[in-house]
Amino acid sequence: MTLHFNGAVAPLFDVESRLDAFVASRDFDRPTLVVDVDRVAAQFRALRLGLGRADIHYAVKANPAPEIIARLVHLGSHFDAASRGEIELCLEQGARPDQISFGNTIKRPSDIAFAYRAGIRHFAVDSDEELEKIAEHAPGASVYVRLLVEDGGADWPLSRKFGCDGEMAIRLLEEAARLGLVAEGLSFHVGSQTRKAEMWIAGLDAVARVWATAQARGLGLTLLNIGGGFPAFYDEDIEAPTAYAARVMELIAERFGDVPRIMAEPGRGMVAEAGVIVADVVLASRKSRDDNNRWVYLSIGRFSGLAETEGEAIRYRIETSRDGDPVGPCVIAGPSCDSADVLYERQPVNLPLTLKSGDRVLIRNTGAYTSTYSSVGFNGFPPLDVVVI
Ligand SMILES: *Cc1c(COP(=O)(O)O)cnc(C)c1O
Repeated sequence: MTLHFNGAVAPLFDVESRLDAFVASRDFDRPTLVVDVDRVAAQFRALRLGLGRADIHYAVKANPAPEIIARLVHLGSHFDAASRGEIELCLEQGARPDQISFGNTIKRPSDIAFAYRAGIRHFAVDSDEELEKIAEHAPGASVYVRLLVEDGGADWPLSRKFGCDGEMAIRLLEEAARLGLVAEGLSFHVGSQTRKAEMWIAGLDAVARVWATAQARGLGLTLLNIGGGFPAFYDEDIEAPTAYAARVMELIAERFGDVPRIMAEPGRGMVAEAGVIVADVVLASRKSRDDNNRWVYLSIGRFSGLAETEGEAIRYRIETSRDGDPVGPCVIAGPSCDSADVLYERQPVNLPLTLKSGDRVLIRNTGAYTSTYSSVGFNGFPPLDVVVI
């Protein structure tokens, strides 16, 4: 369990015992995410060590707990915000406007105007209309154009929703300059949970070709924004954060030379391993006498924080209070009256056959993309509670 860590950060063992000590000492009346903010700080340091001169802009959507933002401000992190709400949160927690970039390519004009008034000057675009909105509501600001890159094998790909092709990106940069904006550079995202640094190669090659063309046309780009994608440990081995980040920076140096400014936007990789969800079993049953699988219904499901189980893309490690007892294959489902609320069925999970209603379960490394995905009260179930220690 410590193999994905290096000497720069506390071993997971200590973190688990700190989280575990807290969890063991308390009762929870609803599913609760417990986050160790010291662990986030350790991960920030580990990534910073590997990323070297690149600026870290934490992707706020991964976990917007104010205590996390405040600690990252203290450590000198920058922030990638996607909305007025995320910008306000960062400012409230002490971030300066020049530490915040507005990285969503789909922005309300009123949010652009708000950001500009607040002093934010870096905006992402991938379309003509967005460029016009920025020219109107954030005159003279800097823009970076997001490229569409092929998914290189990420477990949670971001696919075709964001970005434009290389030719259009160059045209948008030229147009930005005509509109009085600063055409700053290019951005991309390799896809979330990209488990190996080598999976970045195809994406980086494609971006480097566009970068070279833009520079040959005299655009004088100064910023390369490499987005997120830094992995967390779920059920498959990953590289240690520092080594992973250092390898990505090496791949960049080989392709881009000395770009004046590099930005990275880790979300998942910064916070996932710092959190554990405490929930319980609501029901364990079989569908027939000779059913091979047990069905284990938890107090948390697809609509109360575990959205990334869609397609069984992210497979969380589940621990129970009966670990050590004989196990058998279990389908895992949430508590709501919606048939989509099944977490793992195609590939069942081996859990103790003694598991029954009321037993506590811990869902490990759930600090990213859980609290933000929790619905406000589907079927009357309360949203995922968050406790930061
Ligand atoms: C969500 C997001 C990120 C974070 O991605 P991870 O894979 O969680 O690191 C980074 N940049 C942008 C623009 C995003 O939307």
